[in-house]
Amino acid sequence: MSSYRPYLVSLVARHRLSTTFVRITLGGPELSTVSPTLLDQRVKLVLGEPGDLRTMAEAEEWFPTWRTLQAAGRGVMRTYTISGRRPEMDEVDIDVVVHPDSAGPVSTWADSAPLGSSAVLVAASSEREGHETDGVAWRPGSAREVLLVADETALVAATMIARALPEHSTGRVLIEVPHADDVREVACPAGVEVIWAVRDRGQRVQSRLPFRVDREREEDESDTLLWSEGEGRDSYVWVAGEAGWARAIATAAKQAGVTRETSAIMGYWRLGRAEM
Ligand SMILES: Cc1cc2nc3c(=O)[nH]c(=O)nc-3n(C[C@H](O)[C@H](O)[C@H](O)COP(=O)(O)OP(=O)(O)OC[C@H]3O[C@@H](n4cnc5c(N)ncnc54)[C@H](O)[C@@H]3O)c2cc1C
Repeated sequence: MSSYRPYLVSLVARHRLSTTFVRITLGGPELSTVSPTLLDQRVKLVLGEPGDLRTMAEAEEWFPTWRTLQAAGRGVMRTYTISGRRPEMDEVDIDVVVHPDSAGPVSTWADSAPLGSSAVLVAASSEREGHETDGVAWRPGSAREVLLVADETALVAATMIARALPEHSTGRVLIEVPHADDVREVACPAGVEVIWAVRDRGQRVQSRLPFRVDREREEDESDTLLWSEGEGRDSYVWVAGEAGWARAIATAAKQAGVTRETSAIMGYWRLGRAEM
């Protein structure tokens, strides 16, 4: 049984961090039990009618309840990463990318819903077995050398991972963001270099990778979002961001000898498509 459970939450605060990011604070009963694992552990944010949200939060099994709501065309669910937690206050933060040119329901809610609006957060609970690993793709194994590549949607995941790296780690964290004010402090061991690429300055992560990438993105027409989770050995490559962008990096990594078994390559969203 998964350690994930629904929490009925409300939007208690919103802070604009930069041009791209809005930090939302969610509060609610028992949020102190949300797993302290962080890293790239995923959570789900569900929007809908207050009555439906309550039903889902109280359900013994949240997923079948969600499927019923979804089938009835009620409710929206998207995936996020926790950027901060204050168990003593029953609060968690999520840094949401606002993308007005292709506005989606959850980024719009994060940016403009009235404080007090309700939602359901589905997250791993520290009271349930398996919460340390459920929903975590980061599996470096014994790797000392790491390469992390993230776009803005995976910035929080990459920074959470970077700050948890063992002191002896070496390698690079490459993060591509839309604007210069999206760049933030990343704590990591001395042997790990953090490199930012700012898109509106014409910078791209591809030029800073240790292998050559020919295309900025590859078309991704598959039914399911790109997702491949391997485990590190001597080295470990972790890539998360827009699916076509991640696919182009994956192709180049493969040509350079990186195997699926020793890498994690994940589409966090897909250009032109809404994803759960
Ligand atoms: C494991 C995981 C962790 C994630 N963590 C975070 C996180 O911490 N913060 C975060 O902001 N996102 C995160 N994402 C990505 C997030 O789930 C998607 O961006 C999601 O699609 C946003 O939902 P929406 O309702 O705003 O847009 P949707 O309804 O899903 O999409 C509407 C339109 O917006 C486009 N779109 C979606 N996202 C973006 C974007 N970022 N930039 C530009 N256009 C976009 C779509 O292509 C589509 O055309 C994560 C995804 C995964 C899988």
